[in-house]
Amino acid sequence: MKYSHSKTESAEYLRLALPLMSKHDAPFHPISYAVWYEYVAGMNRSLNTAVDALSTHGIPLTGKDVEALFNRHIADVTSETASSITQEFHRIISGVAVSTGQVAKEADHFGQTLLDIEKNSALPGATIDIKALITSTQAMQASTNSLKAKLAESQREIESLREEVTRARDASLLDALTGLTNRGGFDQALNSCLDSLTSEDANDPTAQPCLLMCDIDHFKAVNDTYGHLFGDKVIRAIAKVLSDHVKGRDTAARYGGEEFVVLLPNTPLEGAHALAEKIRRTIEGGRIKKGGSEDVTAKVTISLGVARYVPDESIVSFIDRADKALYTAKHMGRNQVCVVSA
Ligand code: GH3
Ligand code: MG
Ligand code: MG
Repeated sequence: MKYSHSKTESAEYLRLALPLMSKHDAPFHPISYAVWYEYVAGMNRSLNTAVDALSTHGIPLTGKDVEALFNRHIADVTSETASSITQEFHRIISGVAVSTGQVAKEADHFGQTLLDIEKNSALPGATIDIKALITSTQAMQASTNSLKAKLAESQREIESLREEVTRARDASLLDALTGLTNRGGFDQALNSCLDSLTSEDANDPTAQPCLLMCDIDHFKAVNDTYGHLFGDKVIRAIAKVLSDHVKGRDTAARYGGEEFVVLLPNTPLEGAHALAEKIRRTIEGGRIKKGGSEDVTAKVTISLGVARYVPDESIVSFIDRADKALYTAKHMGRNQVCVVSA
């Protein structure tokens, strides 16, 4: 189930969602609640972006707006979507097939009319049956136009399905809490990064990727002191720092729980080390507000392990070396970066 929040957490989301539901014009139905619940829980980045974009002018959202948000950003994008997309494709294709069959029938009929006219015109004193010719031409024109319209409509439908497939695929590679790439997305990114390395790259120390493995320090204590909900807020804040520090082909991902990874293709070890230090310092210098009161803030730190890929080593070994460096950073007292030399 996608909602794994405890009773206390969900009560907090209910408290936050109700004023939003009142502010907007949509009725208080379950669809509307799902939208505002996911919005306040911050568990659905594409939904939050869409709601924020719609809210910029301060116009209350209508029931239709909210329903559209639900359909676009919440309705199940997994197996049900996949099978409904397949059914839609079949419907579109068979619609086109019927129209094409109709045109083919009209073309046959037209051809037959021309043959008849040719045959009759050879007879002495024959006249051309213009009326039959016109009727047949018009019928053919009508079915060609209808096929044209059908094809244009199908093209639009296929385009919207294509967008839906892209959205479903993208959503499956994202972490719901932070909007960062999830573990599956990271595995894909790492695989394709290593696949793209050539044999010449093996001799170039800057051509290999580096990996930053990060883990929040004493996070259990953060949860225990401030509550799980605040813990989630911390995870989102750390994720934001990471995504603010990566660019281009880099991938920042939530590896699981309170662990993150950053993949840096074509990066020398010194560059990766410098970035890890910068991230560590930014997090160390930040304060996370507890909530409405604004006066309670928490300070969190993270530890990082950095490794550079050694040509031909396995993915497991690469990740393991970064993980070991992280473990060393923890062991040395946390809130620090440990670089493993290859
Ligand atoms: P260390 O400095 O050694 O990493 O200590 P730690 O307390 O951070 O490590 P530990 O592995 O003992 O605890 C990790 C905690 O992270 C326990 C778990 O409940 C919490 N956690 C994992 N995922 C989430 C999450 O999605 N939200 C919240 N709020 N907590 C989470
Ligand atoms: Mg951990
Ligand atoms: Mg930890």
